[in-house]
Amino acid sequence: MEAMVRAYVGLGSNLDDPLNQLRQALRELDGLARVRLAAVSSLYRSTPMGPADQPDYLNAVAALDTSLDADGLLVLLQGIEEFHHRVRGMHWGPRTLDLDLLLYGDQCIDTEHLRVPHQGLQERNFVLYPLAEIAPPGLVVPGQGPLAELLARCPETGLERLEEALP
Ligand code: AMP
Repeated sequence: MEAMVRAYVGLGSNLDDPLNQLRQALRELDGLARVRLAAVSSLYRSTPMGPADQPDYLNAVAALDTSLDADGLLVLLQGIEEFHHRVRGMHWGPRTLDLDLLLYGDQCIDTEHLRVPHQGLQERNFVLYPLAEIAPPGLVVPGQGPLAELLARCPETGLERLEEALP
């Protein structure tokens, strides 16, 4: 039995039926070889960062157990993004699906292609609040401190928890 690592993935979409994009992405994550979907947060609505003339985002966070290494997982996440016809281009522009590798076990990774914990995690309420729903009590974000402290410093402005069930 290979060692499994608990990873957390942030999902976001603000184009082309975002709720459906997120639901489909969760099914695809669960269908990946060497990946098991362990938990999914509530669904959230958030106001966009960057250009304001774009629709609100839907966001959620998923917990995965995986025997893939972080690079291998990132490649599969990018494959799912491509499959959703995400249009890369404008920085922080609208997108059909954005998948971010937020945490990979307790590792800190800083390579050309991958930075974990994900950059900006500590100031993004649409990441921290859903993450806190499914993270074990006392989770420490490597290099940044206890999740509870990051949450306490991160206002909920612009973030709304929705009642729709995911997946
Ligand atoms: P973005 O389109 O803004 O989500 O950025 C995608 C780029 O970020 C890709 O080229 C990735 O190689 C890079 N990247 C670095 N760290 C991460 C991470 N933790 N999760 C997802 N993408 C990452």
